[in-house]
Amino acid sequence: MKLFFSFFILLTFSTSLLFSSDKRCKRPDFISSLSVENSLKTLKTLQDVRRNYAALKHLCVDVINFKEGKYSWKMLLVTHPKVPKGPFWFLPHDNENEAFDAGVYATRKYGGGFLAVLSDGGRYFQGQDPNRNFGDTSAVAGHCANQSHPAPKYGKTIFSIINFYKRRGLPYLALHNNTNAGGISILKSSASVRSFPAHRDIADGKGLRDEDSLVYIAGKSKTPNTSKLNRLLGEGLNTRYELVNGQTNDCSLSNYVILNRNTERYYNIETQHGDLKTQKEMIDILLKSL
Ligand SMILES: [Zn+2]
Repeated sequence: MKLFFSFFILLTFSTSLLFSSDKRCKRPDFISSLSVENSLKTLKTLQDVRRNYAALKHLCVDVINFKEGKYSWKMLLVTHPKVPKGPFWFLPHDNENEAFDAGVYATRKYGGGFLAVLSDGGRYFQGQDPNRNFGDTSAVAGHCANQSHPAPKYGKTIFSIINFYKRRGLPYLALHNNTNAGGISILKSSASVRSFPAHRDIADGKGLRDEDSLVYIAGKSKTPNTSKLNRLLGEGLNTRYELVNGQTNDCSLSNYVILNRNTERYYNIETQHGDLKTQKEMIDILLKSL
């Protein structure tokens, strides 16, 4: 009887979903329950949506909302209606516009999709860097200078979405933009990040040879996996290797993947603000090489 009753509820629930939203863009229940908006027209208030309106018409778009502590997180989930499982990207910074445009490009071309944090066009969400919020416990978060509160729900929710749309066997992926010749550059290294330029003639404003065009990989060993590094360098992709461990954990996505997902399959593609052309080119090169 109990079983029959649950079945009945399930049936009613899925039928109502079928009628209330675009059939073409049906989400699994755990994601539908987080969605607070899925009309592209209404979402035109967002700059990212306005800029990509024509392309987004061909994709599935939902605003995901969940609360944790004082934060009521909002993220835009964009996926391909016919090929929902594929490369899936995380975009934590709302001020990085070409990363968003590149995510739209990648989704249309390769399927899968992306999850982009919405923070009114700013890098921070109510003072919290979304890419420093992946600390699950007080012990871990307390150790991360830029995470104000532990956020187990944040990591859990984001990874439940990523893992649903990410095709099995594909790595964890992220997209960012950086500033011209800023702290993130293939010409700079630090104790925890080593730079491996793919070109002898790194030159400003020159696509793949720009110092700001780079792919981040990460891992627990002192030096990167040689075949992985050589593959990327051979493809002309400047590569930065981030050494990750519990001591240096900064509660970013890369660190969370390495320390909590038990894999080192992570790539983050970065270009400087404004260089959409190179970011698209790097997406094509990386996905082809996987
Ligand atoms: Zn960023």
